[in-house]
Amino acid sequence: MRPASLDGARPPPFDFARAPILVFWETTRACGLSCLHCRASAISEPLPGELTSEEGHGVIDQVAEFGMPLPLIVFTGGDPLRRPDLFELLAHSRDRGIRTAVSPAVTELLTADCLRRLRDAGVMSISLSLDGAVAATHDGIRRAMGTYDRTVEAVRTALDLGLKLQINTAVMRPNVEELPRIFHHLRSWGVPTWEVFFLVRVGRATHELDLRPDEYESVANFLYDASRYGLVVRTVEAPFVRRVLHQRDGFPCWNAPLYRGLSSELVAREGPPTGPSTLGRRGTLDGDGIIFVSHDGTVQPGGLLPVPLGNIRTDSLPALYRTHELLRRIRARNLSGPCGTTCPDRTVCGGSRARAYAHSSDPLASDPACLWAVLGPPSPTR
Ligand code: SF4
Repeated sequence: MRPASLDGARPPPFDFARAPILVFWETTRACGLSCLHCRASAISEPLPGELTSEEGHGVIDQVAEFGMPLPLIVFTGGDPLRRPDLFELLAHSRDRGIRTAVSPAVTELLTADCLRRLRDAGVMSISLSLDGAVAATHDGIRRAMGTYDRTVEAVRTALDLGLKLQINTAVMRPNVEELPRIFHHLRSWGVPTWEVFFLVRVGRATHELDLRPDEYESVANFLYDASRYGLVVRTVEAPFVRRVLHQRDGFPCWNAPLYRGLSSELVAREGPPTGPSTLGRRGTLDGDGIIFVSHDGTVQPGGLLPVPLGNIRTDSLPALYRTHELLRRIRARNLSGPCGTTCPDRTVCGGSRARAYAHSSDPLASDPACLWAVLGPPSPTR
């Protein structure tokens, strides 16, 4: 999740070679849900080797060592509510002057009292997942009946409490056609931020759930349209949306059946767009503005890019982030294939490093979900 005030654009004070803007900490892999596409293949009980409370304090202290401006820590999982010391860790972050965000799973642990405690702990924002416009789709993906109703209730409670709320949606085969209805829910509930994850085949995510590059192109163009209604729209593992944003400035619109269906339903529900796109023109990549600490302290470029760079138990997080050769190459866009050579938008995009790795075991290869990486960019006369 990216907090609501970080709209995907690179804020001027942040030099991504010096420090990430976001540190994702997978506090545990324990979770009461068992989602179809779970990156972490989360299970009901914590895995052996999980960082202790004392080591967790050490993670926070290492984040503080990046210096000002400090990154924000996203407490993720699994379900971070399964950490008995979560509120103690949030308090320690606050004491160190570090802003926090929390991504809880929607289970019976996420009560109104819990949401109030998160607000009172000074959490800057929370994210909740909504993967379907109706209970059958969402509960089918989350593999837990009643999760949709519980999510709607949690959304309303969080907004009533004044928490900054972001809704996350993982787009995949079972829900792609529900995107306009999900967006409509968010607008009618008053949710300010929608973050849409493009699938990466890691953990439990299989190719049956995945979309084709032309379908991702349709989703990216739909998200451009959806971002013109005031609600902040962001994407994860889809940096080529920035290319679509540039493209839509000067090229004719994408015109595939999936896009036409999504777009016409959007306009039918919402009316004409109300303003300019809220999509960011520059943003992060795994290892470029983002770093991930797993449940056992392994440091990775991102949660969906499981290349071990070192371990928080033995290595310095700032040193790993600043000097690791893989991260330096990602930040320099020293990549192979169209994402590193021929694509005119490679500096603002760079392709999903996680998807490249999942597809080819090479985190520096081109992004196989991007139509331009697959077909090449269109010639000016095309
Ligand atoms: S080819 Fe690579 S760099 Fe270019 S838009 Fe596609 S994913 Fe981005």
